[in-house]
Amino acid sequence: AETETQNTVRERHRETAAEVCPSNTGIYIGGEFVPAAADETFETIDPTTGEVLTAVARGRDEDVDGAVEAAWEAFESTWAGYSAGRRQRVLTDIADAIEARTEELAQLETLDNGKPVSEATIDVRGAAEQFRYFAGIVRENPGETMNGGSRYGQVVKEPYGVVGQIIPWNFPLMMAAWKLAPALAAGNCSVLKPAEQTPLSALRLAELIDDIVPDGVVNVVPGYGEEAGAAVSGHPDVRKLAFTGSTAVGKQVMKRAADTVTDVTLELGGKSPVVVFPDVDVDRAVSLVSTAIFYNTGECCEAGSRLFVHERIADGVLDGLVESVDDMTIGDPLREETDLGPKVSREQVGRTLDYLTRAREEGGEFLTGGGQPDDGALSEGCYVEPTLIDALDHGSTAAQEEIFGPVLTVFRWEEYDEMIRLANDVEYGLAGGVITDDITKANRTARDIEAGYIWINSYHDLIPGLPFGGYKQSGIGRELGAETLDHYQQTKTINLSLR
Ligand code: NAD
Repeated sequence: AETETQNTVRERHRETAAEVCPSNTGIYIGGEFVPAAADETFETIDPTTGEVLTAVARGRDEDVDGAVEAAWEAFESTWAGYSAGRRQRVLTDIADAIEARTEELAQLETLDNGKPVSEATIDVRGAAEQFRYFAGIVRENPGETMNGGSRYGQVVKEPYGVVGQIIPWNFPLMMAAWKLAPALAAGNCSVLKPAEQTPLSALRLAELIDDIVPDGVVNVVPGYGEEAGAAVSGHPDVRKLAFTGSTAVGKQVMKRAADTVTDVTLELGGKSPVVVFPDVDVDRAVSLVSTAIFYNTGECCEAGSRLFVHERIADGVLDGLVESVDDMTIGDPLREETDLGPKVSREQVGRTLDYLTRAREEGGEFLTGGGQPDDGALSEGCYVEPTLIDALDHGSTAAQEEIFGPVLTVFRWEEYDEMIRLANDVEYGLAGGVITDDITKANRTARDIEAGYIWINSYHDLIPGLPFGGYKQSGIGRELGAETLDHYQQTKTINLSLR
């Protein structure tokens, strides 16, 4: 990457964009791509080069109204009449369509988000897997019957009808799949609002499924959060809301949903601890910790952003981490060998750098990183150096708030109870990691961390069937698991008297 010039990178991005960007960038309503009602657009930017990828329709209230109406129309005219078996076939076809375009979708995701293409490929496969998983369980949803005496009771599960789904920019296609797959499996129609930073893969997905899904079952309204997002979350005819993004906006969505007593699923921020015990192999610990924080440029809600390393091996692990950062290939995310790409936007770079300034003021010692790389080829991009900060007080801002960048705060521990107290001393409770070969300690620590998802000796691998979601202010509800279907259904009891 060192020998690349800005021009080489720019050319590669322009050529790839010409091949993989969706040709339809309107609002997808009722199976058609249409301009926004106000005929406005916004630009989506390639964070590697700073160049405009394309202009996208800027949806607002009126567009969301149209999408919700189209969704109800589709629900009533076709989708509600689809059997589970038929929905299963639709979901499987969507998975096939995604898989058949893995390379092109991965490149598109890399252009719009900046993530390394090797990681974008994992996202695309994960998106297809989501549809396959929910295709697989869609028929396992029989309800219950109860027979006894003079009574015959049935408990049936019914879809809400139309659901509103708002997703972030960190895993754009995968988040679309996490939302759409269970919603459709449960028999709902969706109005999906992608993030304004990364609307392209959801629009491309809409193109790809246009022939598979009946018109209006999936609607995509790109636009800004305060406009399209607020309109979706406050819409009186949306019967269920699912949101992934920041805790601050999640609270707003929940407040708006309260006006119509609409059910919400929220997948919010995190500040997850990774606990390293002294028995482990240092190289393995280094590799796991590095993945936990630097995967997807740290833009993961579940990122392992607070390291609790046992005093006895702390120096070895930290030296190893600094070395592994030195070895990282930071560069054009379209290249297979790139480990770390740019952040999603200039705004996000600014947020991360502000946290670094704050950490410096609060007494943090930077073991590596702490700014933007000054390599010429990277200078147009939204890059932030992988950063390790030691010696911070656990109460400091950088240790408490979600930075959402490649920044790890480091704490050393000797006393287990005190370490656990600190590990749990944040508002969040999304995930955690434990690294040890001692199965008893691993399990105890997994139980002691207040979080919805704990990895022992791995990190980030999410498997459909194992539910994912947060404790505390990290959210409400679970995705990825069979119980997710329940979030998209309501229970009806039919109590029939036989007398
Ligand atoms: P955000 O919460 O503002 O955006 C997420 C989604 O919500 C986007 O589609 C956005 O358009 C929409 N949105 C924004 N304001 C809205 C509103 N008032 N009503 C309805 N929808 C609205 O997240 P962000 O600003 O893009 O990122 C800020 C921080 O959020 C990040 O730095 C990170 O801490 C966190 N985040 C978490 C996740 C996650 O997976 N949990 C993902 C992205 C961001």
